[in-house]
This record gives sequence, C-alpha cells and structure tokens, in this order.
Amino acid sequence: MPLRIGCDLDGVLADMETALVREAETLFGPSISRPAADASAPHASMADLVPPEVAEDAPLQHELHLTSKQRRKLWAHVSGIEHFWESLDETEPGIVARLAALAAERRWEIIFLTRRPATAGALAQVQSQRWLEAKGFRLPSVYVVTASRGLIASGLTLDIVIDDTPENCVDVASDSRARTIGVFRGQQAPAAALKAMGIHLVTSTAEALDLLVEIDTSLEQQPGALERVMRTLGLKQSATA
Ligand SMILES: [Mg+2]
Repeated sequence: MPLRIGCDLDGVLADMETALVREAETLFGPSISRPAADASAPHASMADLVPPEVAEDAPLQHELHLTSKQRRKLWAHVSGIEHFWESLDETEPGIVARLAALAAERRWEIIFLTRRPATAGALAQVQSQRWLEAKGFRLPSVYVVTASRGLIASGLTLDIVIDDTPENCVDVASDSRARTIGVFRGQQAPAAALKAMGIHLVTSTAEALDLLVEIDTSLEQQPGALERVMRTLGLKQSATA
C-alpha cells in the first residue's frame, strides 16, 4: 500500500515569509524587518502579521515591527495582489521537483494542505496547484484547510504529515494516528515537548524527504518493519503496521 502523505505548503515548500517581508518593506520601508536572531527589543512576530486564518502557517524566521494598523494595511495590500500565491519562491531550490520525482518513483500519494486565504486572481487552491505544477509537480491535489489538520489526517487516513508549525504538528499528533514530521529551520521550537508526543523534528524539507525515503525503504526491504522504524525514529506507531 502506498504511503499517504499530507504536506504543508508555506514554510515547507513555499517561501511565504520572504514575500510578506518584501511587501512590508515596500509599504513601510526596510527598517520594518530584521532577522529574528536580533531580539533586543519588543517586536511583533510574523504570526502577528497575518490574519487569524493564516497565522498558524506564518513562519518565524523574521520579525516585523508593525502596529496593528500596519498589519491590517499590509494584509489588505497582499490580498489585493493578483496571483500572490503563484509568485512565491521555494523554501529550498528544486525541492518541489525532488518531491515529485520521489512520489512518482515510489508511488506515494500526496495531498497538499494549506490555510492560505484568498487573494486577487484565481482561488487560493488553483493558485497553489499552478504553483506546484510550475515547480515540477504535475497534477497536484491541494486542499485548503478550514478545520483541524488532525481531524483531516485522521479522516483521510494519512500515514505521515509534514508541517512547519508546532501547533499543526501537535494537532496531527493529538487527533490522528499519522506520524508527524516537523520542519523547524532554526527557529525556537518546543523540541522536548514535541518529541515527547512522537513528533520527529528536522531542520529542512530535504531532510524530511530523506526521512520519508528511509521509512519507505525499510517498508520495502522488510514488511512489517514500520513499527520498528517508527520506534527507532521516535515516531508514533503506524495506523496500518
Ligand atoms: Mg506552514
């Protein structure tokens, strides 16, 4: 049975953060942002920047110094940009094509999960599909999430979910039997708490794909090995093992 994988977009495959920072600097000047490592003064995080429906997907590599009025103005500006979601770069160059090649070679079933809100132009779902196709993933299945990712992972009997926010990882780990891979690129993550829930932490999407291959290879070589692999990796026991 093929692995069923749920993959987040922003922060895992797509670099929403850089695009949002660029738009903020266009509106308010370059002093509005600085690297997250500089935490010497109070500041708003990226999570504060975006509206509630997308806040869970907001990466945390940068900090932006925005008032609530500026945040509203920025998001109104972004939502008016036609095909904004199609304009993003990849988090890691070539990562979508690599995922596509692996999925084709290993016959993985992948669904892309996102909380992207609407912008001008095509539906967020359609923009996301076009973006994935343009980066090398043909015929992508995209679902714009409006409810708990854990319930979705459970309902779709996903085997593995890849995400970049602790909240989503905890959601999946709590409400489904899917294993969770958290991609945390150096930002502060509650690592011990996440690991205790069986969530496996990696620092890049490339590393997450390596882990998927490792799991898949173990399954091929030794049927019934999934439980052992999961135990070795500190992940939850499989729903299907
Ligand atoms: Mg995300």
